[in-house]
Amino acid sequence: MLTSIEGRSVIVTGSSKGIGKGIGRVFAGKGARVLIVARDGSEAEATAAEIRRSGGIANAVAADVSKVEDNGRMAQAAIELHGGIDILCCNAGIYPSAKLFDLNEADWDRVMDVNLKGTFLSVHACLPALKARGKGRIVITSSITGPITGNSGWSHYAASKAGQLGFLRTAAIELAPFHITVNAVLPGNILTEGLEALGPEYTARMTSAIPARRLGSVEDVAYAALFLASEEAAYITGQTLVVDGGQVLPESQAALEDLY
Ligand code: NAP
Repeated sequence: MLTSIEGRSVIVTGSSKGIGKGIGRVFAGKGARVLIVARDGSEAEATAAEIRRSGGIANAVAADVSKVEDNGRMAQAAIELHGGIDILCCNAGIYPSAKLFDLNEADWDRVMDVNLKGTFLSVHACLPALKARGKGRIVITSSITGPITGNSGWSHYAASKAGQLGFLRTAAIELAPFHITVNAVLPGNILTEGLEALGPEYTARMTSAIPARRLGSVEDVAYAALFLASEEAAYITGQTLVVDGGQVLPESQAALEDLY
């Protein structure tokens, strides 16, 4: 059993849906006070209300992580509504597909703004409150795509997700004196609204590439994030935890033949 996170103030960016919503639900289920963050305020509020209905503590704020002012408002909301910030989960991210020949500057900039700059801006906005606590946890949702694998159509996305790891390794050093750890979860293919939007052909192709032969659930990622956010993970910083059902393991397609 890990030390309880009951009463801890947790911000989860990109949490009206998908993995972020899963993290919000799991953390709230363990007694944390959770701030649900998304651009669409009514969807964020609907998720917070769902958590409250199941007995958890949650509030919502509309914020775009790629904007400085929005991150400031988000941090302020956690301080006012939940008394400070203990844990920040930088999860907001987008993954529009475009092959390199078609990829334009605006596509590149948007993905970098949300996924990479957004991670920096959220961390930066929450630092004073995390530091004031005397300890803290930052958990970034990166991906296997970029840090470990490549995937046709996602060169900009892969660069943003690998960039998050470059950021976290130096952030982990700079924040160590304040007892703030910075780690990342690297999901494989997780069944979310965003992933489903890529279509059944994509999800079937990915499922066949996973030794566990299923897509991940949002809870699979949320429990990994919960461990990295725990008291017991105090000496783990600058590290990554792959949550992919073994997807990065096979040396070739042949390694997956005759498994089932
Ligand atoms: P999703 O189902 O599309 O949900 C994305 C969430 O992020 C929504 O709540 C969305 O709400 C919010 N969001 C998007 N842009 C935002 C912004 N600029 N500011 C604030 N919130 C924003 O996505 P997901 O599949 O759960 O993915 C979540 C994270 O996991 C991403 O970082 C993604 O790269 C990573 N990931 C996912 C998978 C996977 O298989 N699903 C695999 C590896 C990594 P609004 O649209 O209202 O803002």
